[in-house]
Amino acid sequence: MDNYDNIDELTGLYNLNGILSHLQSHDKSAADSSSVIIYLNVMNFKAFNQRYGFVGGNEFLRGLAGEIKGLFPEELIARTAGDQFIILANSLDEKEITDRLTMLSEASTKHDKGLRLHIKAGIYQEAGDEADPVIMIDRAKTACDDIIRVYDKSINFYDEALSKKNELRQYVIDNFENAFENRYFKVYYQKEVRALTGKVCGYEALARWQDPVMGIISPLIFIEVLEEVHLIHKLDLCIIEMVCKDLRDDIDSGYAVEPVSVNLSQLDFELCDIMVEIDKCRDKYDIPVDLIHVEVTESALSFGADFLDQQIRKFRDAGYEVWMDDFGSGYSSLNNLKNFDIDVLKIDMDFLRTFDTNKKTQVILAMIVNMAKELGIHTLAEGVETKEQYEFLRRIGCEKLQGYLFGKPMPVDDFDRAVDCSSGVCEDFSLAPYYDRIGEVNFLGNTPLRDKSFEVFNNLPLAIIELQDEIAQCIFANRAYLDYLSTLGYASLSESNSVYGTTNHPDVMEFTVSLKRAADSPDHRSVSDIVTNGNAVNHKIRFLGEGGGRKAFAVVSRNNSIHEENDTAESLRVAMAHVFNQYFRVDLFDEDGTVDNIFLNADQKSVSDITRDSKEAVRLYSEYYIYPEDKERFKKFYDITTVRDRIKDTENEYVVDYYRSATPGDDGRMQMYMILPFYYNGRWKFISLCRYADEIKDDVWK
Ligand code: C2E
Ligand code: MG
Ligand code: MG
Repeated sequence: MDNYDNIDELTGLYNLNGILSHLQSHDKSAADSSSVIIYLNVMNFKAFNQRYGFVGGNEFLRGLAGEIKGLFPEELIARTAGDQFIILANSLDEKEITDRLTMLSEASTKHDKGLRLHIKAGIYQEAGDEADPVIMIDRAKTACDDIIRVYDKSINFYDEALSKKNELRQYVIDNFENAFENRYFKVYYQKEVRALTGKVCGYEALARWQDPVMGIISPLIFIEVLEEVHLIHKLDLCIIEMVCKDLRDDIDSGYAVEPVSVNLSQLDFELCDIMVEIDKCRDKYDIPVDLIHVEVTESALSFGADFLDQQIRKFRDAGYEVWMDDFGSGYSSLNNLKNFDIDVLKIDMDFLRTFDTNKKTQVILAMIVNMAKELGIHTLAEGVETKEQYEFLRRIGCEKLQGYLFGKPMPVDDFDRAVDCSSGVCEDFSLAPYYDRIGEVNFLGNTPLRDKSFEVFNNLPLAIIELQDEIAQCIFANRAYLDYLSTLGYASLSESNSVYGTTNHPDVMEFTVSLKRAADSPDHRSVSDIVTNGNAVNHKIRFLGEGGGRKAFAVVSRNNSIHEENDTAESLRVAMAHVFNQYFRVDLFDEDGTVDNIFLNADQKSVSDITRDSKEAVRLYSEYYIYPEDKERFKKFYDITTVRDRIKDTENEYVVDYYRSATPGDDGRMQMYMILPFYYNGRWKFISLCRYADEIKDDVWK
């Protein structure tokens, strides 16, 4: 039997002829032993060939053939077409088949040059009633074809359900011409609901085949067939015509009118000028463009990206909304978001199927909505079936919902217009743009008030800080944190790091203490308010872990003094004004020898407007306002260069002294002068406060 006609030259395996003649002879000789047919198809092989050429492609096929032989040494193996293989086994159970195919899938990665060629397998187990062994191959292939579009399934056994589906499919193939002729195709409508208001804001048109023999046939079966025979555009235009007709009825009826989204197949774009056809239909029934939205599926988008990009653009330029259907169910969802400009993302209902059972589902849904909003795309969740799902989707800001919770698809005749199309149930369509604006707000984002800029930005000032040998150093700061540092007077991260790395001033020490407190606390957290460079700063700290003698912390810091909208800052400002009022003047000295008057509530000159030189200003001030006998003492007291040394000798954080006033009318009244140093912006500053001290009796000094 092994003559050259039966052998595949490339791999040395059998070819189709070879396996068929074997099956036929096997059928005769061993009718009672049950055979298993495994049909293998390599996905994306075309792409591999394009990338690595035929030589590279052949190399892969030879490599794969070798792996199959290794894993199925007892079995008969054939390559029947380009990237399709058949394994004929005599008796292998399901588990063994699954295990070996899983190993094959892993082994194939040795040859696919990193391109990840998925291998799909359909398996048919002989029942004994097959008239012709070719049927066995057909059924294995059917099982394989059945999962070609199911991206997370690579092994499929032919079973009863598949057999029924296959029968129905055959019926569809035999009868679709009839169906068009006899108008078996009908349109069903399913509600789309605005999550925010709970009102109906549109419908999706879904095709049904109402067959006198088979009953209602699902689009899941006939769409594929119609695509294969290139008649899908005929169906879609038929649906669109019915939709336009129904919309015209709605408009004329005076009831609420809502937009309808129609499903397009990728082939529609190739088989006709689909937009021109839709326009014609709209013209015929005089339907405005914003009442028809078009849905394209992700899988449709993954072919010929440039072409579809143009088509989508054409629709959008003409005023149609383009919706991406079944988002998340395909291979390259995220790429599609990048490559196409679309209006609405319909999130695939597969996500909601695991809403209750898989905790990750909610996170993924939230992230999809979050991402869509950051990209300026609206969202609709398909397949909403429970109140909990509704509540969750509303909370994360998903704008529109569709699913059995709100209603199954129904024919127009089943709608009770007086109720279903009343203004209590339906949204006023003219408000759609208004609600769309609201829908743009990202409830999950932390910059909900900013315009969309496609910039990745976290409003929360976040830093990662390491503590080693008592020295805190920031190893990461996001942009908001850098902004926060600049409010403290630090121009860069390295500037703040150098202050935190070298100085021992009180702000830094207090901060280090807060870090340590987080590390030592049972929940690894601490919160503290620290006055830093004159600002009231709030730090929320979380200890992350330690290694190599270092401890790491995540820190969120806020400068409460500059956030005007912040209650604390406002209270601080008011309190400050009252504190100042206790004094008749407040001046600010700098270690560089300058002075500024910052508050004055007395019949005095500010002096710093005459000179900013602190020594000269002090001299002038004492000339004007200090009692002659106290002048020398006063000037010594205001020698800023010695203030910090003088403080060291006391238990206070300031120096204070009393001088009699020479201001006319004061009559030698006693005054208190106080100097308080603080560290700000990399330097020492000195606040000088003056008030009357009538409690001090003149005779104390005598
Ligand atoms: P699709 O566009 O994603 O439509 C949503 C499908 O989910 C519909 O199935 C709908 O009946 C079903 N569905 C809606 N809510 C729920 C729910 O809460 N739970 C569950 N389990 N299912 C729900 P249907 O009508 O069988 O349509 C299947 C697919 O066939 C559609 O998926 C669409 O891709 C395609 N299709 C339908 N009508 C047309 C058409 O006129 N033209 C084209 N090209 N494709 C169509
Ligand atoms: Mg759809
Ligand atoms: Mg869908």
